[in-house]
Amino acid sequence: MNRRDIRHYLKLSGKIILDGIYPRGCVVCGEPLEFGKRDHPARLHDGCKEFLKPVEGPVCYICGKSINETETLCGDCKNTDRSFDGAVSVFEYNNALKESVYRFKYKNKREYASAFAYMIAKHHKKIIGYWRPDVVIPVPMHPEKKKVRGYNQAEILAKETALILGIKYEADTLIRKKMTVPQKELGIQKRYSNLEGAFEVKKDLGKSKVLLIDDIYTTGATFDSCARALKAKGADKVYGTSLCIGQGF
Ligand SMILES: [Zn+2]
Ligand SMILES: [Zn+2]
Repeated sequence: MNRRDIRHYLKLSGKIILDGIYPRGCVVCGEPLEFGKRDHPARLHDGCKEFLKPVEGPVCYICGKSINETETLCGDCKNTDRSFDGAVSVFEYNNALKESVYRFKYKNKREYASAFAYMIAKHHKKIIGYWRPDVVIPVPMHPEKKKVRGYNQAEILAKETALILGIKYEADTLIRKKMTVPQKELGIQKRYSNLEGAFEVKKDLGKSKVLLIDDIYTTGATFDSCARALKAKGADKVYGTSLCIGQGF
């Protein structure tokens, strides 16, 4: 056995031991994955793939939400003066994803970030390449909230996505300075007033193009409020990408 083989053997046995102690779960059902699947970036059982519904068919050309064939814009984008320049999401927010995102956000399943980032890159590499963002920025969480939760899921998702796409990642450029009521408790108009003055940009962005990342897209009020703050500091374009999109949460 040469040195390279030994290194490989040690790495592999370390992995087997770790997998034995912390079996890597499927992002949909949470059950352990068979050994061969653990290393696949999507981290899904074949059968569980069926529960994820990619956003398909005609979509709003601003926010990426599914719409009727006769429309070009969704109701929200028709009635809102958007500050972001385009957004796409990967999946419809259904029950399977709701449970998965819940574990990702509240049950310390931080390891899902790399699988979700892989899914974002797989589905939207082309449009993100077309947008040519200079930097990936996560939708920030208020520091007090982050202290309680232990992490910001949008941050780890954005970091992994930036890594896969080979785009610069910045976590401290956009900050949340106001504690806000959870958006899911509010109607669309109140969502905007709730976020009034919530975000601050810490540096000049000198005409750069920004890609915002969040876990869930609902009405676009968060992307709009972040985009307004980023553009006030010089961002030329602001785009958004979320793992899932849906109504009523
Ligand atoms: Zn599964
Ligand atoms: Zn729309």
